[in-house]
Amino acid sequence: MAALSLMLVTVVRSRIDNRTDVIFGGAEGAYVRSDSVSFADPKGIATPEPTEDIWPKINIELPQYYLVNDAHPIASPHYAPEDISVIEGTGYMMFDTATKPYLEAMLQDMRDHGFNVYVAGAYRDYTYQKYLFDGKASQIALGMGLEGDEIWLDPRYQEAVEEARTITMFPGTSEHQLGLAVDLMDKPYSKMVYENMNQEFFKYLDSICAKYGFIKRYPTRKLLLTGWDEPWHYRYVGVEAATFIMEQGLCYEEFYAHYVPDFEY
Ligand SMILES: [Zn+2]
Repeated sequence: MAALSLMLVTVVRSRIDNRTDVIFGGAEGAYVRSDSVSFADPKGIATPEPTEDIWPKINIELPQYYLVNDAHPIASPHYAPEDISVIEGTGYMMFDTATKPYLEAMLQDMRDHGFNVYVAGAYRDYTYQKYLFDGKASQIALGMGLEGDEIWLDPRYQEAVEEARTITMFPGTSEHQLGLAVDLMDKPYSKMVYENMNQEFFKYLDSICAKYGFIKRYPTRKLLLTGWDEPWHYRYVGVEAATFIMEQGLCYEEFYAHYVPDFEY
């Protein structure tokens, strides 16, 4: 956790829509923008290390444990789950077929407890993530005043790309490509502001997700470690790891670092 002490916290005003956003400049030069966080206590994110002998004995090499983030992109743009299929109750949202029963059982649990479940995102291949990313970069470039049919040839376009990296995950760095991640909400939202969402929904979901092998992957309080504040994003890692992670209050990077000695955030 030494890297944490190097973190800088800067509040900047967004060029794009004039909102005040909290941006964290990290030791790795990672900048984080958050639409929903009002970050008050940078010290509050550190979690005491659980004792060495209680960590689950797992094979970290298995796909269900793959760590995917900015510093650890997916090995190949062509990577795809072995088989994907549509999540029940959604028109077209896809998920890893072998793991899908765990997801569907969790969603059913939510419904049984009176919650409406909306799957806002699931499997995305590299090409689709690239489409989303390029769209965001172009939108920012236009906001910067870049013009013409080939704005990506403008040297300043790189600035737009860098800014886009703080908002939309760069192709190859999104867990959605694994087919093991979903964005869950109680209904569709036009603006992804966590505080405006149904907190009872998430409270219950957080209390049951590990039972189905899922973790809350980007909790707000771990923003400095994960780089993202997406409290609606849930990732399958299996019941054993998920139970440990949720009980100990870890983020996945903290968990992963335990198994990979030279791990760098
Ligand atoms: Zn997501």
